[in-house]
Amino acid sequence: MILILLGPPGAGKGTQAKILMDRLGIVQISTGDILRDAVRKGTPLGLKAKDYMDRGDLVPDEVMIGIIEERVGQKDCERGFLLDGFPRTIPQAEALDALFAKTGKAIDAVVTLTAKEEELVKRLLSRAEAEGRSDDNPESIRTRLQVFREKTQPLIDYYRSRGKLVEVDGLGTVEEVAERIKEALGN
Ligand code: ADP
Repeated sequence: MILILLGPPGAGKGTQAKILMDRLGIVQISTGDILRDAVRKGTPLGLKAKDYMDRGDLVPDEVMIGIIEERVGQKDCERGFLLDGFPRTIPQAEALDALFAKTGKAIDAVVTLTAKEEELVKRLLSRAEAEGRSDDNPESIRTRLQVFREKTQPLIDYYRSRGKLVEVDGLGTVEEVAERIKEALGN
């Protein structure tokens, strides 16, 4: 099974991705986690990505596409995987389609979590206190929401027109949202 989780920052993608991963027995590939790990370790990727991330901007498409091509080819992805945070732009989505066409894979569903911007900002600010992520500050949050609207929102139509989109209300408790996703996916 190949799933994509799409949604604005603060919509709960990471939390729901972990629940889905356990339930479906597939690996979670979080590009945000991969990048934060690289920054922590000070690898060439981390050094390249850090400034973009701190500002709330996207890391360049070619960098991200390279990471994903490498990652989904690994052995633990054979049974399926869940992409959390990728694709985030139309070129990333097109690159993913091209990769899957080449390797005989297909996306089963794209789950998009919706939430009002007010609620997103509230969640991100409280996460800032709890986790201390360097991009959870008001300025970077504003940029990330704007980047979502401009670059990532168009993917909703992209996948809807391909019949892959499953829209789920992201408001409510973690369990409520998980249950909605389960129902929407029919399992
Ligand atoms: P959030 O959804 O809360 O913004 P993520 O952990 O998904 O958090 O991403 C954090 C940051 O990592 C993004 O703001 C961006 O700088 C970078 N990033 C993650 N995934 C991608 C991607 N697919 N393309 C470009 N940049 C990305």
